[in-house]
Amino acid sequence: MLSEFDLIARYFKRPLPAGSRTAVGIGDDCALLAPAPGMHLAISCDMLVEGRHFFPDVDVASLGHKSLAVNLSDLAAMGAQPLAFTLALSLPSANEAWLAAFSDGLFALADQFACPLIGGDTTRGPLNICITVLGEVPLAQALRRSAACVGDDIWVSGSFGEARLALAAHLNEIELETPAMQQADARLLRPTPRVLLGTALRGIAHAAIDISDGLCGDLGHILEQAKVGATINVDAVPTGAALHGQSLERRRHYTLAGGDDYELCFTAPASARNEVLAAAGAAATPVTRIGVIDSAPGLRLQDARAQPVQLVLHSFDHFK
Ligand code: ADP
Ligand code: MG
Repeated sequence: MLSEFDLIARYFKRPLPAGSRTAVGIGDDCALLAPAPGMHLAISCDMLVEGRHFFPDVDVASLGHKSLAVNLSDLAAMGAQPLAFTLALSLPSANEAWLAAFSDGLFALADQFACPLIGGDTTRGPLNICITVLGEVPLAQALRRSAACVGDDIWVSGSFGEARLALAAHLNEIELETPAMQQADARLLRPTPRVLLGTALRGIAHAAIDISDGLCGDLGHILEQAKVGATINVDAVPTGAALHGQSLERRRHYTLAGGDDYELCFTAPASARNEVLAAAGAAATPVTRIGVIDSAPGLRLQDARAQPVQLVLHSFDHFK
């Protein structure tokens, strides 16, 4: 049986990448990091709980990926560059096959962003994964939710609704053909954190948020904090290809309020359209303009012919 310290050494302790800001990683009481001059540290923490955020039979390498991806997505939404992360892990047992698969999925994504694991905590208990990421963003260039301005365009990255579609299939609410299921499951299990886009939008976008609980609800957080309103064309919001066989009602609900999309929604002045498109091109990330920020409070939904659309949408909320 692995001891706690063997487990950490075997599955989580790895050499730091060359040029890392981390001076001391795993092994001492604290990690030590040297922040660059002129930068703010961006810090965010996200927890994944078995039975709440993932099914007990989830693919374990994908779980490793997703645990870090949802955290990197928060850095992306702030325009921050990943620096390092910590991992607090509660495990029912020291199952080596589980640990090998989990750390493989975790480090594959960490390596992609040169974001080393620099510390954590390990305990026995119900399966629970809590990651804290650290990033950096130049002073005054962070993409704040409160920074949306009346007249701004509203943009989104990528497409929406497929993670919710996969969830519906897992819950036996719907049946999916294999190709659609594979596509939807990939979105649910292996979200792509939009870090390249987030950093490319520094100095161009005003406000940004990552969409974890549903587009309309999360856009609502920007509207609240910036004390503005918005009108969006719901037909302009890109719907994931796996949803194409579904009814209009289901497509709209999953696209506008599905959750687990991990796309960015951001606002930028209309005068910056070319710069937004250039930043998206540099980040190899598709973006779509879906609406405008206006002064009347609230969120107005329209269709492609500018007719009002009435939808009752429910964002995800753990306590409702
Ligand atoms: P302490 O007793 O001071 O809390 P621990 O004995 O828990 O320290 O951890 C020893 C070292 O291993 C520390 O550097 C800690 O950050 C690191 N560590 C513990 N668990 C993990 C983990 N799951 N992933 C990465 N590092 C870990
Ligand atoms: Mg400890």
